[in-house]
This record gives sequence, C-alpha cells and structure tokens, in this order.
Amino acid sequence: MKTGTTTRKLVAIGAALTLALTLAPTAASAANYKESDYPKAVMTYRAHPAGFNDAAEVTTPGPRCSITTTVVSAGGVRVSVRNELASLVRELLARTKQMGYTMEAASTGGYNCRYIGGTTTPSNHAYGRAVDINWNQNPHSYTFRSTIPPAVVKMWMNAGFYWGGHYAKHDTMHFEYVGAKSAIGTYYKKLTGQSVPTPPTPPAATETSFPSLKQGSTNTAAVRTLQYGLTARGYSLTADGVFGAKTKAALVKFQKAKGLAADGIAGAKTWPAVLPTVKSGSTGAAVKALQTELRAAGYSLTVDGSFGAKTKAAVVAYQKAQRLTADGIVGAKTWGSLVD
Ligand SMILES: [Zn+2]
Repeated sequence: MKTGTTTRKLVAIGAALTLALTLAPTAASAANYKESDYPKAVMTYRAHPAGFNDAAEVTTPGPRCSITTTVVSAGGVRVSVRNELASLVRELLARTKQMGYTMEAASTGGYNCRYIGGTTTPSNHAYGRAVDINWNQNPHSYTFRSTIPPAVVKMWMNAGFYWGGHYAKHDTMHFEYVGAKSAIGTYYKKLTGQSVPTPPTPPAATETSFPSLKQGSTNTAAVRTLQYGLTARGYSLTADGVFGAKTKAALVKFQKAKGLAADGIAGAKTWPAVLPTVKSGSTGAAVKALQTELRAAGYSLTVDGSFGAKTKAAVVAYQKAQRLTADGIVGAKTWGSLVD
C-alpha cells in the first residue's frame, strides 16, 4: 500500500513537472489566468448576427467569400476584418496594447475564408467578424488556458464581441462580433466616446438654388412646379408646364400681395415664397408639385397630392442622397434642390 501511494505521488509530481515545462515558455512572457478570473458572458453567441447578409456572402463549396475586408494595423499587429468593423477593431487592438498586453503579429489574425477544420461549415473567420489573438498562448482546448488580461476580455465583450473562452471547448484566442450590424456605431461610440470616423465627404454637390423663370420659359418641369405652387397659394392654374399670360398674371398678383418686386419673373426671392413647406399630412397642389419633382428624380410615386408614408420615404431618401438634412420636411433647401 505504502509503495503504491509513493508511486502515485511520483507519477503526480512527474505530470506536474511536465505541465510546468509545457507552460514555461509562455509563463515567462505573460501571466496565465484562471477561468474564474474572467467576467461571465453577457451576450448570447449567434453565428449569424442581425443585419449581415451571411448566406449570400459566404457560399460553399470552397467556401467562397465575397466580403469586402480592410487590413487593420494597430497595437503592433495586422488583421483583416470586414469593412464595417474596421474602425471598431482598430480601436480595440490599440487599446489592448495600451492595456499592457503584447500581441504577437505571427499568431494574431482575423478574416480567413475557410471551413472549420474537418467540416464543411465555413469558419467564423470567413465572415470577417472574428479576431484571434496570440493563438500560441491561448489555445482552442477543453483545458482552459489564457494569457489575456480579464480587463481586455471585458473591453471586447463590452464592444459587442463574444469571447471564445466562454465556449465549452474554450477558444481563448477568439473574439467574434455578435452584435447587430446596425449596432457597430453604438459600440464604437461607447468605447471611444466618438462617432465612427467616416471618409471625408466631398463638398456638397447639391445646389439648392432655383431657376429663373419668366413668360415663354421652356423649362416645363419647373414651370409646372411654379403653377402648382401658385395654385397652392390660391391662384388657380392648370399645371401644364407652359408659362403663358395666365401664369404671368397670377405670378404678378402673388408678388404684389407678398410685397415682392412684381416683375412676373420667378427668381430667388419669389420661389421660396411660392412653395410652402410641406411634410407628413400636407395635402394639395404643393404636394402634387413635390411628387411630380420626386418622380422626375427617379422616385416611384403617385401624384395624388397627399403627403403620406411613401412620399415621406422618398423625400428622406432624396435628402440623404443629396446630403441635405434628412428630416422628411420639404423646405426651401429641398425645394431648391428639387427644382432645376
Ligand atoms: Zn478564432
């Protein structure tokens, strides 16, 4: 019995020594943490988070991936991730380094269009949402091993990433974005206090000036809008796009009533006075003018003079495209942009 106990003890010591020797190289460069040192998972793992077009972007066999990626250089490493995540991952890598954790360029990576080993399931890395940090120190294993400081893991978790250390088969190197695509900006702002930097926008191409129209003008579309506008102001006209004597007479009357120069010319001052601000719930000739202009700009709408949800959606889309304030309210600037 005594002998047996001694033998078992020796075996145990031997195993401990082997383990110590295995750990020695990494233990020298970074601390090893216990599973209980880390915060519990706060997000549910989801392979296909909301808003991404995974089924179309990663297809098999192959797999084939059609994701646009960006190489992010930060914190001493370079990883590829899908474009939308580039700013967020750049910040996380930089902050990981600032927090004192050294990432090895040779064992840190991101996007990889491949299958999970031994399967025909695309790897999480095929979607460009996953980053592996120091895979030599943080193995994919049922035995928990991690050199990543818990505060670093917490930071990534707070930024919408699921940590592989929380899998049953721990993958402590692995951080995977599982938030909605639409939430990336929110996570970035939470992390940095700033909005996601956008590429510098070119100077606004939008012109918001009105054309100058007078009797005989052949700018049919603009004349029609003017006629709708005058009708909305109580000077009933047929919106036929022909600037004749009747349109001129109505315009002069309107200008007099408004204290404008009564020259019968629709210019920079007259236009904003003619066209009222229209928004959800507005009805009548001014809305018909708007709908006609939006149709000319390529938006599919019925000209019914009723500013409903479809009209609003078209206005917002137009405003966004023209880099105007996208509030769905059509005032002088949006009118000026629409009327050419
Ligand atoms: Zn991974």
